[in-house]
Amino acid sequence: MAECLYIFDNLEEISRKIKSSEKILLGMDHDGTLAEIITTMQEARMTEQMKNVVHSLCKNPKIHIAIVSGRKISNLKDVVKIEIKNIFYVGNHGFEIEGYGKDYTFEDKSILKKIKKIAQDIEKPFKDIDGFDIEKKGCTTSFHFRKVKPGDQDFVRNEILRALKKYKDIRIVEGKKLFNIRPDVNINKGIAVNIIGNHFYKNDWRKHITVIYIGDDNSDEDAFKILEDKDIGIVVNKSPPEDTNAKYYLKSVKEVEDFLKLVNEI
Ligand SMILES: [Mg+2]
Repeated sequence: MAECLYIFDNLEEISRKIKSSEKILLGMDHDGTLAEIITTMQEARMTEQMKNVVHSLCKNPKIHIAIVSGRKISNLKDVVKIEIKNIFYVGNHGFEIEGYGKDYTFEDKSILKKIKKIAQDIEKPFKDIDGFDIEKKGCTTSFHFRKVKPGDQDFVRNEILRALKKYKDIRIVEGKKLFNIRPDVNINKGIAVNIIGNHFYKNDWRKHITVIYIGDDNSDEDAFKILEDKDIGIVVNKSPPEDTNAKYYLKSVKEVEDFLKLVNEI
């Protein structure tokens, strides 16, 4: 993989890319990207300053905004609370997409039933472990162990993984102190970006749109993977990341805020 570049050392190139674009699709993960994860993912919220920046970006006629998350879309909207119509919300890692009066939610009853059953099976033996938490989101479910006593986290992680591996036809994605299970179908944050691009310019959206995508999770790699040379993929990571499809990195949520301000001024 090519070396991942610190974005503030490459502002000339970024500015050139933004200036030469007709439209920008700015896709941003929520937890750990727009909002700091202090104790748990569910408690992460944007600061007022960050909200103001996102709000002013929404008003920029050159920019379309998508907030992308593993959360359920209803929960994501509750948390983001930006009273603006022109914004796309992507929930459940791409299984739910809503915006500009459109709804692209994936629903398959048999899959929903299956994920629900697995969630129940896993919940039983783990629910009494202090700090274990299950987040049922319809076609995906997350098992969190961030709040488990640090000394027990490895054990709990391995046990959850062992229990999950018994099931076929599901995909297990490891996140930060959590496992997410989802149907083994071709839906992810990259596909979501493609659906949103298509919403604006059908199949030749790439000609018109430059994508800026910012995220800090494994699941964001699916979005980085679909980016082209003219696009700007940014991973949020404290130190220079070694294993990412993103071309650039930012070190913190605060730096994301600073960068977004710059984007709005270019
Ligand atoms: Mg994240």
